[in-house]
Amino acid sequence: MDPEHSRRYLDAMGVPVWRLRTADVDTQEPEQRLEEIPPPAHQGDTMVSESTEPSDIGIEPPPGAVPAAVPTEGIAGADWERLSETVSSCRACELCATRTQTVFGVGNRQADLMIVGEAPGADEDRQGEPFVGRAGQLLDLMLAAIGLEREQVFIANILKCRPPGNRDPRPEETLRCGPYLMRQIALVRPRVLLSVGRISAQKLLRTDDPIGKLRGRWFAFGPDEIPLTVTYHPAYLLRSPEQKSKAWQDLLKVMRRLHEMAGDLGAGTTG
Ligand code: URA
Repeated sequence: MDPEHSRRYLDAMGVPVWRLRTADVDTQEPEQRLEEIPPPAHQGDTMVSESTEPSDIGIEPPPGAVPAAVPTEGIAGADWERLSETVSSCRACELCATRTQTVFGVGNRQADLMIVGEAPGADEDRQGEPFVGRAGQLLDLMLAAIGLEREQVFIANILKCRPPGNRDPRPEETLRCGPYLMRQIALVRPRVLLSVGRISAQKLLRTDDPIGKLRGRWFAFGPDEIPLTVTYHPAYLLRSPEQKSKAWQDLLKVMRRLHEMAGDLGAGTTG
């Protein structure tokens, strides 16, 4: 990655360049040392065993616990067209009454990197596209800092409809919307999943652990054991800019992992 390129975007993100230097210190912390990134899950590293039990991962309801209205029927094998039609007409939870429109997801349907946020906000509800408000602009800058255009990744949310007043998603809503996201992940088959924000991370990983405990680690998501990592939500970073350097560390990990998986990075050349 061209350091000048990154520096320009780090400036725009509001990550002070001097913080990059302290990143050397940050990486001495056990959870952030790049050497501790496990290899891809299929190589069987024990560090991912914390999350290798597929039935215990993700937002799919456990077998036998599916309420009748959960739209699993036909979704498991749906292609993109069918899936997006089903989402746009979905009435599986009460959010359909208050939405302007559904927000399906956007980007490269064969992306190496898939980003999963929480739920549409007011801007997204109006425009029908995820991450188009202020948080979305910061997300774009974060991606640009690691050399990625928004169009190169696929971006989706846990929920496809805006919760009124941007309240947290309710368990019932997550359960009913979950199959859509799971199908999107299965169709994209990304090399890496980046979960942004506490809600996304807790729902995907089925945990109540705080985000500070979840970020900086790799998990194996779903039956395909897709490497998943967690970072702070850009909306949180707008409120807490002092955390941006940690998000930058997370993005570097993502980038490194992508390069490793593509086989175009010698060990230790990025960090
Ligand atoms: N926050 C999210 O989590 N997703 C969006 O699409 C917008 C804001």
